[in-house]
Amino acid sequence: MDAKFYGLEKVIKEWEEAKKNPEKFWAEKAKLITWFRRPDKIIEGHPPFEKWYVNGLLNISYNAVDRHLPEKGDKVAFYWVNERLESKAISYRDLYFEVNRAAYVLKELGISKGEKVSLLMPSIPEALYFSLAVHRLGATLVIHYVGLSAETLSYRLNDCDSKVIVVASKGFRNGNEIRIKDFVDKLLNEYKTPVEKVLVVKRGYDDFNVNKRDIIYEEVKPRGKVEVEPIAVEANEVATIYYTSGTTGRPKGLTHTNGGYVVALNTSFKLIFDPRQNDVWWTISELGWPVWPMANVYVIPVMGLTGVLFEGYIGYKPDLFSRIVERFGVSLVWSSTTTLYTLKSLGEESVKSGDISTLRMILNTGEPLNVGAWMWLREHMPNVYIADAYWMTEHLYPVAATPFGIAEIPYKPGSAGIKFPGSEFVIVDDEGKPLPPQSKGYIVLKPYSPALAKMHKDPNGERVVRTYWSRFQGYFYTGDYGYVDKDGYLYVLGRADDVITAGERIGTMEVESVVVTHPAIAEAAAVGYKKDGGEGILIVAVPKKGVSESPELENMIKEYLRNSGYIVDKVVFVRRLPKTKSGKIMRRLLRALVRGEEIGDISTLDDPSIIEELRKALGQ
Ligand code: ATP
Ligand code: MG
Repeated sequence: MDAKFYGLEKVIKEWEEAKKNPEKFWAEKAKLITWFRRPDKIIEGHPPFEKWYVNGLLNISYNAVDRHLPEKGDKVAFYWVNERLESKAISYRDLYFEVNRAAYVLKELGISKGEKVSLLMPSIPEALYFSLAVHRLGATLVIHYVGLSAETLSYRLNDCDSKVIVVASKGFRNGNEIRIKDFVDKLLNEYKTPVEKVLVVKRGYDDFNVNKRDIIYEEVKPRGKVEVEPIAVEANEVATIYYTSGTTGRPKGLTHTNGGYVVALNTSFKLIFDPRQNDVWWTISELGWPVWPMANVYVIPVMGLTGVLFEGYIGYKPDLFSRIVERFGVSLVWSSTTTLYTLKSLGEESVKSGDISTLRMILNTGEPLNVGAWMWLREHMPNVYIADAYWMTEHLYPVAATPFGIAEIPYKPGSAGIKFPGSEFVIVDDEGKPLPPQSKGYIVLKPYSPALAKMHKDPNGERVVRTYWSRFQGYFYTGDYGYVDKDGYLYVLGRADDVITAGERIGTMEVESVVVTHPAIAEAAAVGYKKDGGEGILIVAVPKKGVSESPELENMIKEYLRNSGYIVDKVVFVRRLPKTKSGKIMRRLLRALVRGEEIGDISTLDDPSIIEELRKALGQ
C-alpha cells in the first residue's frame, strides 16, 4: 500500500473538526475552486433555508476549462469510447473551443442566466460541451434520461420550464440504435410543452425529419475560434435540477447551486479518491443519473483530471470492461451495484480480457453494494479497493463512505462505511430519539454541507419542510433504515417504507445480503406480505446463469436463510428484478404486486414489460 495513506484517526479528527467549526471547514474547501469574487459569508441561516458562500461569484465552466488552459491545454480532458471500441480523445484546449462554440449557439438562441436548458443525449462529448456551455452562460442545466416515456419527459419539460432542448439525433446501447430525435418529435407533437427550439446534434446522420423548431447544431456551429465570456454567477443561484430515482414514489425535482454544490462535490472526491493528476476516471453511468454530471461536469474537469465517457451498456460484450480499462489506463471507476453485479454475471472474461492492473479503486453508489458482487470483485481484483459512498439526490455529499484516498479504512461487506467529514447522521427510533450502536432505526441527518438541495418550485421551502423535515423534529429524514456497529460503520438496511415486520423489524437488505451469498443466486429482493395479522417474508430471486429453478432450490434457499435466523415463507424465481433507470431495485412495485395494491408511479421503471413477467412468476 502507498505510504501516504494514513489511518482512521485522521478521518475521525477531520470529522470532529468539521463538526466543531463547519464554517472553518467549508471556508477551507472553498479554495478548491476559483472565485471571481470571494464570498462575504460562508454560511447564512440554518438548514433547510441556509445559504452558502453568500455573494461569492463564480462560473462553473471557467473552473472546468479556462483555468486549466495555461498548464493543461494539451492534457486529455476526456476520452470517449463506445461499445465497438471506437474512441476519441479531447484535450483541455479542444474542450475550451467546443464549450465556447456550444455556448455561442445557445446564446444566439437567447439562453442567459435563469433560463433552463434541457439535455437528452447519450454519453457523448457534445453532452459535456453543452452542459458546460449552459453553465458558461450562467443558465440552469436539466439532464434527462434517454428512455423516459413521452408522458414523463413532457411532464418534466413543463416542470422545469425549458424553452430549449438539446438532443442527439440518435444513440447506441446494447447494440441497438435509439432514435432520440424521432422520439422528441413525437413527444412535442403529442404533448404541450414550453419547448420552442430543438437543437440537434446530428452525429453524422441525416435520417430524421427537420421541423421548423429544429436547429441542426453542425450547421450553425461556428467553425473558427469563438470566445464567450463566462458569466459570473452568485453561489446560491441554481446550477442544475435533478429528479430523484423514483424508487420509493414519484420522483422529486431538486435544485443544486453553482457554488456550494460544486465545492461539496470536489471535497467529496478529494476525500474519497484523492485523485492524482495522472488518474483516469471512468464513471459508468447513463447521462440522466446525477452520477454522470457529478463526475464529468462538476469534478473531473474542475480538478483538471482525465475522464472516460462511455456510450453504451457495459454488459453488451463480456470483454468490454477490461478492454476499456486497458485502452485508457483507467485507474478510478465510479458506478452502481447493478453495474458491478453485471460484471460478475458476465463472468471472468469481464475482468480478464484486458490488462486491468492500472485500476486502483472502484466506488459504489446508489444502493447497498451487493455482497455477492463484492466478494467476486475481491477475488478477481485483489489489488483494487472496492469502496462505497452513501448519499442521495437531496444531499449530494456523502453521509457515510470508505474514504480510501485519505485513509486506509478496512471495508466491511454490507456496510456503506464510516461517517464522512462534513456531514452527520444519527439513527433514531419512531419518536426521533437517538439510538445506541447496533440498534436498528431510521437514518436521519443533521446536515451542514453546501450540497443540501432545495426543492424546485418551492420558493419558501414549504415542500422541503413537509417532505423531509417534518417526520423527525430537527432532522432531515433520509427515508432509509439502518444501524451503526460498534466501530462506527453504517449499515443501510433498506428503505424505511420497505421494512418488514415479521416478529421484529427487518430491513430488506438484511435478508437480501444473505440470499445473494448462496452459490445459486445472483440477485434478490425481499418483500413483506400480509399474513395472519402480521407480515411474512417473500423472496424474489434471480438464479445464476445455468441454474434452473425448482422446489428443491426453493427449499434450499429457505433452509439457508433459516440458518441465518430468517424464516422465509416463499421464494419466487424470476429472470430479472424490476429496476429504476438508475439501476435500483423497485421493491415497492414487487410489494404492490404481491399485495394486489395500486402500482403507483412507475415513470422511472427501466422496462415496464417486466410487470407482466412478474405477475406470471407470482402466479397471478
Ligand atoms: P426516490 O427518492 O425518488 O424514492 P431514490 O431515493 O432511489 O428515489 P436517489 O436520490 O437516487 O433516489 O437515491 C438515494 C438513495 O439511494 C438513498 O436514500 C439510499 O436508499 C440509496 N443509496 C445510495 N447510495 C447508497 C449506498 N452506497 N449504500 C446504500 N444505499 C445507498
Ligand atoms: Mg430518495
